[in-house]
Amino acid sequence: MSTVLDLAIIGGGPAGLTAGMYATRGGLGNVVMYEKGVVGGQITKSSEIENYPGITQVVSGLELMEKWPEQVMRFGLKYEMSDIIRVSRADDGLFNILLEGGESVKAKSVIVCTGSVPKKSGVEGEDTFYGRGVSFCATCDGFFYKNKEVAVLGGGDAALEEALFLSNICSKVYLVHRRDEFRASPATVQRVNKNSKIELVLNSTVKKIYGDVSGVNGVLVVDKAGVERDLKVPGVFVFVGMKVNNEVLLQENGEFLCEMSKGGEVVVDLDMNTSLKGLFAAGDIRINAAKQVVCAAGDGATAAINAISYLESLHE
Ligand code: FAD
Ligand code: NAP
Repeated sequence: MSTVLDLAIIGGGPAGLTAGMYATRGGLGNVVMYEKGVVGGQITKSSEIENYPGITQVVSGLELMEKWPEQVMRFGLKYEMSDIIRVSRADDGLFNILLEGGESVKAKSVIVCTGSVPKKSGVEGEDTFYGRGVSFCATCDGFFYKNKEVAVLGGGDAALEEALFLSNICSKVYLVHRRDEFRASPATVQRVNKNSKIELVLNSTVKKIYGDVSGVNGVLVVDKAGVERDLKVPGVFVFVGMKVNNEVLLQENGEFLCEMSKGGEVVVDLDMNTSLKGLFAAGDIRINAAKQVVCAAGDGATAAINAISYLESLHE
């Protein structure tokens, strides 16, 4: 009979790695972290990070995450490179982890840390200049455009809130939206309308983001009447929605394993408990996530501490 894991961690970003460290250092002996791609998560794709505590100089995301696996594995966390297809609960109360290729592993508890990915707009130049003027994170990259002009793409809460955030740093923010009505909450729209540093470029779509080897030089937009406008900005922030990586929780019957928000995030309490006992979620995947490395790491620690308590309660 194959071994039953004490804990399976799905995803090896900041949340998963920190969960692994707290679980193993906290005494759990049989913990496996499954990661389908690069250990370190989405931040490894960012060229610069400077807001993680203790980092006194700008480093790349890859540099930030470089030592995390080494530190974490010291306490006995096992790592397996694998794309997890599904987490489900068997009749015996154990969780079933279905790996790519059809193999299954049983676990007494699970922490889902599969994170999120920003949706792309599909605009020409978006991929070419990603990390060189195109960003999906104003908190992370806004400071690099201090006293410069930037363009924000989108009309939801994220775009408007981030435009407001950027207006505190940048000399001007062009908010480019394809309609003349926003999805964002009325209060946020009101704040944007009152902000003299934000210029609304409505009923307009981005034709292309252009630049050269050093990065973005501008954005060509076109309105519904076909009139083109060239916004000469070095930075473009794209906020056209987030895609949460929740597929592992989707069951064969089309329902999710635990309660989810309308936006597809996992509903958790302050202990990172989902609606299903023994199943935890941490990091960007959970509701109301601040979507920052430090927060994901904190969630991972919280989830692991509570997974240990859950496993102890099974023996009471
Ligand atoms: P992720 O980092 O998304 O990690 C999830 C992991 O799960 C991934 O490695 C993924 O491959 C894996 N996974 C997903 N599905 C499966 C599966 N089915 N099976 C196995 N593995 C799976 N935050 C900051 O604090 N400061 C910054 O400056 C900053 N800059 C950023 C810049 C960019 C360009 C981006 C994209 C994000 C930035 N962030 C920044 C946000 C930060 O990266 C995230 O908040 C953080 O990485 C979330 O961590 P997580 O562990 O929840 O998820
Ligand atoms: P969102 O609400 O889905 O809005 C996405 C915006 O991007 C929409 O305005 C949409 O235009 C536009 N868009 C989509 N695809 C596009 C494309 N290819 N090209 C150009 N524009 C495109 O996404 P979000 O703002 O990231 O918010 C996601 C969820 O989180 C929402 O439920 C939101 O309310 C919530 N949220 C809440 C808060 C808060 O409560 N403070 C903050 C942030 C996010 P259309 O409007 O024309 O479709």
